[in-house]
Amino acid sequence: MGVTSEVHYQIVSRNYQTFFLEREEEGRHLPHYLKKECQRFLSCGILSQGFIRLHCYHCNSEKLVAFSCKGRTLCPRCGGRRMSDTAAHLVDHIFKEVPVRQWVLSFPFRLRYLMAYDSKIQSLVLEITVRAISSYYRQKAKRLGIISPKTGAVTIIQRFGGSVNLNPHFHMLFMDGVMKMGEFTSIHIQDEDVHFLCHRLKTRIIRSLQKRGHWKEELDENFELDQEKLGVNQLMGGSLQNRLSFGNHKGQKPAQIGKVLERTWAEPQGPCLSYLEGFSLHANVKIGKKNREGLERLARYVARPAYAKDRVERGESGQILWRLKNPWKDGTTHLKFSEEEFLERLISLIPPPRINLIRYHGVFSPRHAERSLSINKKKSKRLTLRETERIEYRTPWAELLKRVFKSEVLQCEKCKNKYEYVCEITNPHIIKKMLTHLGFAIEIVAPSPPRAPPLAYANQWHDEDQRHHQEFFMN
Ligand SMILES: [Zn+2]
Ligand SMILES: [Zn+2]
Repeated sequence: MGVTSEVHYQIVSRNYQTFFLEREEEGRHLPHYLKKECQRFLSCGILSQGFIRLHCYHCNSEKLVAFSCKGRTLCPRCGGRRMSDTAAHLVDHIFKEVPVRQWVLSFPFRLRYLMAYDSKIQSLVLEITVRAISSYYRQKAKRLGIISPKTGAVTIIQRFGGSVNLNPHFHMLFMDGVMKMGEFTSIHIQDEDVHFLCHRLKTRIIRSLQKRGHWKEELDENFELDQEKLGVNQLMGGSLQNRLSFGNHKGQKPAQIGKVLERTWAEPQGPCLSYLEGFSLHANVKIGKKNREGLERLARYVARPAYAKDRVERGESGQILWRLKNPWKDGTTHLKFSEEEFLERLISLIPPPRINLIRYHGVFSPRHAERSLSINKKKSKRLTLRETERIEYRTPWAELLKRVFKSEVLQCEKCKNKYEYVCEITNPHIIKKMLTHLGFAIEIVAPSPPRAPPLAYANQWHDEDQRHHQEFFMN
């Protein structure tokens, strides 16, 4: 089965042209990068859309590598690749054998809203956060008699929540201690440290936003999003509230499957977890210094893509079922969308181009004087950065690597020697000839043209299924 027959592929392929056309007809212009990510995703990993030819001169084997879209949201394939690359990089080339603590900070609704729209606000909030946690570690270190201690951290900004909704929050991997000229000292973190920091972060972030005029006192927690704004604001606003922004169920939340109770909100509680008026700081995940596998697992978790394709299923009447990772307290196990609605959600998660979602701080930041002393330089079984850099210097590879993933082109699958680049093939006639000759199936990329929405059908399953579930649980 080819890529084009997978559910998530069909969702985009069948609906994206309609989605953008409908928005245009409503006078809501969405930024171009959203459409572009859809288009590029549709030809990702498909040989009939062009590929490069690689040859191994040691064992004479040959490989064709289809171009990747390198999309950050829609493409589970590229998202998965990026997750593995990032995690491997953090373990092999950033974190030495030191304990690592994950700090997760999530925000009140109003701040999520500001951060989703404005990458400058997001960066400001991140800067305040990292500075506060870092200086806390340093203060504790100074009390132990360490002079001018340094901290090191990596932040991965996740834009999504568990129900394919927009929810910008930070996952920060901190060395759980301080570094001084490459020497590490552990710092002990307890519940009260997390409470103290949560309080401090809340105060500093709000104060700094007030100073810049982004946070007004008269807005209460239930403030309404400005629904009058067009296009992307509406798209993001809906997604932030877990509501649908367009189509027949505009303003509604996606139907819940398995719900048996009314959901009651309870303040989150647990060790090394602090909650304060919507700010939640969680620091209970710590990886020991020898546990490199655990560190890589954690890194993969924080760098994971917005959605995994094995959580998307197709229901009996064609609707899309999103399986929740952990069922909600009210019993909900799945959320249900129409294809159009699910696509709307996915598109709302696409970050603006050139926003960097991985940031390095302290001794890990690129120009820090003690960086080379503080990062991991141990050779691993994987290809080292220096080796890959050497490859990138040579011309065809440099261009090539922009379009595919390094891991795909470095090693011969049979003899583990290095593949050599032969050529790049983009001419449709030659592509067809070669693939036919080599016995590959030719997958056709043909997104559905814009069409009128199937109103009756869409309404029907929502109502019917809701009724069905009510009856089921009442009996
Ligand atoms: Zn891709
Ligand atoms: Zn070989």
